[in-house]
Amino acid sequence: MVISKLWANEFDYRRNVLKAVLLVIIFAGCIFVVSNWQAGFKVYAGIELGLVILSIGILTIHQKTPNLTLWSSVFLVALYSVILIGIYSISFNSTLYTWLYIIPVLSYLLLGIKLGSWFTIVYLGAGIGVLIFAHLLKNPDINPIAVVNIALCLTAIWVLSYTYESKRTAMVERLQQMAAIDPLTGLNNRLHLNSVFEMLCQSIPQDQQSVSMLLLDLDHFKKVNDQYGHDVGDEVLVKVSRLINEMRRRNDWAFRFGGEEFCLLIPNTNEAQTQQVAERLRQAVEKDITIDDFTLNITVSIGVARWPLDGNNLAQIYKAADARLYQAKEQGRNRIIRT
Ligand code: GH3
Ligand code: MG
Ligand code: MG
Repeated sequence: MVISKLWANEFDYRRNVLKAVLLVIIFAGCIFVVSNWQAGFKVYAGIELGLVILSIGILTIHQKTPNLTLWSSVFLVALYSVILIGIYSISFNSTLYTWLYIIPVLSYLLLGIKLGSWFTIVYLGAGIGVLIFAHLLKNPDINPIAVVNIALCLTAIWVLSYTYESKRTAMVERLQQMAAIDPLTGLNNRLHLNSVFEMLCQSIPQDQQSVSMLLLDLDHFKKVNDQYGHDVGDEVLVKVSRLINEMRRRNDWAFRFGGEEFCLLIPNTNEAQTQQVAERLRQAVEKDITIDDFTLNITVSIGVARWPLDGNNLAQIYKAADARLYQAKEQGRNRIIRT
């Protein structure tokens, strides 16, 4: 779920590319069906008509289907097969082989680096094989310069398509990471919260469902900044983040909500265990924060809420935890409120 949310935009991108490609192929396909029919290539015109119909079908479902990669693959297998059959059965002079150039471009745009590379290797390999055995070897009159040009152009398009797609995905991954990670502390930022919460709720067996939320806010943090400066304040935030990160279990999720507020999501724990975790955190912050020569008296207030006990959804759980955090502040800070 986390991954799927993060990659949602990537799938939107691929959906839009598929739509554009389908529209082009439907348009070009209709022209080819008519012209090939008129030229007497009736079987080939029929095959192209099949491709056009399949493309229209995929166009109608491409927005909603959860199996975008599958349908893109089906479409490409059909398109590439039509191209290969055409190259095999129609004369070299028809220049139908120029459609081979589209294979690396479409494979990488629609399927990404890994699957795109496989499609390119298989279908470009098959296309070149057909070209060599069906035309070049049988036809000694073909100008060798034309053959060299085809080979160089195919190689250039393949290399450029591969480079474009690998750079694009690397950049998207980097941007997604930058958007999801708090740069100062390295913890997840709030952007992740929704999807992580949903993922935790869904991954827990029904009979033991529970996710605890600990909302932490450092006490009188403004004073730390005022007294020691913003840089020391930042170091405190980093140290607290480290404490939270070290104390969490493997399946717990830690977030920084901006400022000096943190959140811990803990799946599968009962009330007593949650209280224990919160208490250990409270004590660790109280004891362990020293920066250079300063010993700072940092304390933290914690509001605790549990799903499904305190609400059905994230908004309700957060509201309950926030209200308890507020109570903890009201009652003198450096404490945990959980009911
Ligand atoms: P309270 O006990 O009521 O929470 O008091 P507080 O002073 O912590 O309250 P408040 O939330 O109003 O203040 C938070 C302060 O945190 C305000 C701001 O100066 C400081 N702050 C927010 N983000 C950062 C940051 O990234 N670095 C540093 N050094 N300080 C920050
Ligand atoms: Mg505070
Ligand atoms: Mg605050």
